[in-house]
Amino acid sequence: MIHFHYHDVIIVGAGLAGTRAAVEVAPVADVAVISKVFPTRSHSTAAQGGAAAVLNNNLKRGVDTWLLHMFDTVKGSDYLADQNIVEYFAKEAPKAIIEMEHWGTPFSRMPDGRISQRDFGGHQRTRIAHAADRTGHALLHTLFEQSIRLGVKYYPEFFVMDLILDEEEGDYVVRGVVAYDIRTTELHIFQSKAVMLATGGGGRIYKITSNAHEYTGDGFGMIYRKGLPLQDMEFPQFHPTGLYPLGILITEGVRGEGGYLINSKGERFMERYAPDFKDLAPRDVVSRAIYTEIMEGRGVGPKKDHVLLKIDHIGKDAIMEKLPEIWKFAKTYTGVDCTKEPIPVMPTMHYMMGGIPTHHETGEVVADVGPDGEVSKVVKRLYAGGEAACESLHGANRLGANSMTDTIVFGRRVGKHMVEILDTIKIKDLPEDVGKEQEEKIKAILSRNSGEKVSKLREELQETMWENVSVFRTEEKLIKALDKIKELQERYKNVYVEDKSTTFNMELKEALELENMLNYAEALVASALFRKESRGAHSRVDYPNRDDEHFLKHTLAFKQEGKEPLIKQRNVVITRFPPQERRY
Ligand SMILES: Cc1cc2nc3c(=O)[nH]c(=O)nc-3n(C[C@H](O)[C@H](O)[C@H](O)COP(=O)(O)OP(=O)(O)OC[C@H]3O[C@@H](n4cnc5c(N)ncnc54)[C@H](O)[C@@H]3O)c2cc1C
Repeated sequence: MIHFHYHDVIIVGAGLAGTRAAVEVAPVADVAVISKVFPTRSHSTAAQGGAAAVLNNNLKRGVDTWLLHMFDTVKGSDYLADQNIVEYFAKEAPKAIIEMEHWGTPFSRMPDGRISQRDFGGHQRTRIAHAADRTGHALLHTLFEQSIRLGVKYYPEFFVMDLILDEEEGDYVVRGVVAYDIRTTELHIFQSKAVMLATGGGGRIYKITSNAHEYTGDGFGMIYRKGLPLQDMEFPQFHPTGLYPLGILITEGVRGEGGYLINSKGERFMERYAPDFKDLAPRDVVSRAIYTEIMEGRGVGPKKDHVLLKIDHIGKDAIMEKLPEIWKFAKTYTGVDCTKEPIPVMPTMHYMMGGIPTHHETGEVVADVGPDGEVSKVVKRLYAGGEAACESLHGANRLGANSMTDTIVFGRRVGKHMVEILDTIKIKDLPEDVGKEQEEKIKAILSRNSGEKVSKLREELQETMWENVSVFRTEEKLIKALDKIKELQERYKNVYVEDKSTTFNMELKEALELENMLNYAEALVASALFRKESRGAHSRVDYPNRDDEHFLKHTLAFKQEGKEPLIKQRNVVITRFPPQERRY
């Protein structure tokens, strides 16, 4: 049985970006949020260290300005961020944080009661607002409460499979989404005037990641499978300090509070790689430094495959007040008491700088660019926000603590744009056969009794990505990865599940997630192959230098059935800061 629903606005994703947009729209329209996990279990709740904004509450490193926040972000991005977007972000960030404070976020405080701010990598001022080391949890619960107060309708544990797209006067337009209820496996069609994809990131294509199990890039998959482009996918971010060997995140806030990295000789090695910023250099720089130490034989442990993060010198009281969760993670998963000994760490896949490209004014999803590199077509009333989107704020390397602020600044902006246009839109009937394709897909997976196992294919993908497409890349390894992905895509056609139940069938859900993963992994590797230079998080051993002449451009990857992805380039917007050599 297929169920039908109508809401003025459908938001896919109940993390910070989705709920922030919902709170903006709810006072004037009927808005529903769909989430494959319970809303407050969205990955935003795991965010630890804090959210960047110029508040000037902590002046220990000097007075802060939006222009300086903009400069740090642009430099951090290795000049690939669109500067009009960064300027808007840096100016709006303080308002967005204060708004969260007024709605009740329990931020940590300065002695005089103002919001406490700490240091983070690549930021020249002390500008990270935080709630101890559980900032995401505090922010998400605040927004969830506000959304409930405003009557936002939630569909928890519903899995969105596809967008319903149509054409109107030569433009694409969105009419809703197709989802199924994970509790019953029944199909639900959601019709709406506008849709936002706020589906978060996709770190689960890698073997070692700080990301939640839900981070399977379903939004990326939905876009790419429709022949729409993904932007700058070659830039996944490797966070330098994942807990060894699991990859659970140890927040940059540890280094922000005075922690530093050491190698097997006890050397504070970041002094050599970033003489000014040291341990608070941006993530791409620190991750490369750690791998270089390991490759040159100065890693620790029997396999010499990780380094140590020392924090005990700031004292037990400070650790317990500012980093209580980190103390617990290290103790629970490795037995290390970080008030006494250093934490074993290694880089872990953490964040997607790239994603669904959006229009700089409206936030609508970009469908194509012309030969001049400018946007030529959008999908009307389809928006993207949060980690799923590529606005492009983070360019080739995101600064820590800019993402949570990104979700609320741009979530709010998407909400505002929706409010402006909703009254002008007329609803059209959906095609007769809507939902049939998705129903057939589920049936086919459930009815196969033999073939390829989901977990096996996923494991092979994760292994391939980790071995061939991590911090340092070469053409040879990237080609190997792309060939493997093609092989896995072929084998996926024969995927089957052992669990045939229609109640909470997690294996079925994982089979659908895997289809998305195999799709955006292809876009990621093809984009990395195309970019024959090193910039930000994309380090090509065979092309070690940045090449502004050919690659100061965004990469757009389009799926082509049975062929290599089509790659196009989109212009980068440069307003205030011409590209310079990046030194820390
Ligand atoms: C461990 C960790 C710590 C971090 N710490 C920080 C930090 O200190 N500071 C910072 O700035 N950033 C941090 N980040 C990054 C930041 O938290 C995220 O980028 C941001 O919170 C993402 O928010 P979002 O709203 O885009 O997505 P999310 O919060 O991840 O939400 C995604 C939503 O999409 C839904 N969804 C996905 N696919 C589907 C589907 N097919 N059908 C239905 N629903 C779907 C999910 O159910 C979920 O509700 C951290 C990230 C991690 C992993």
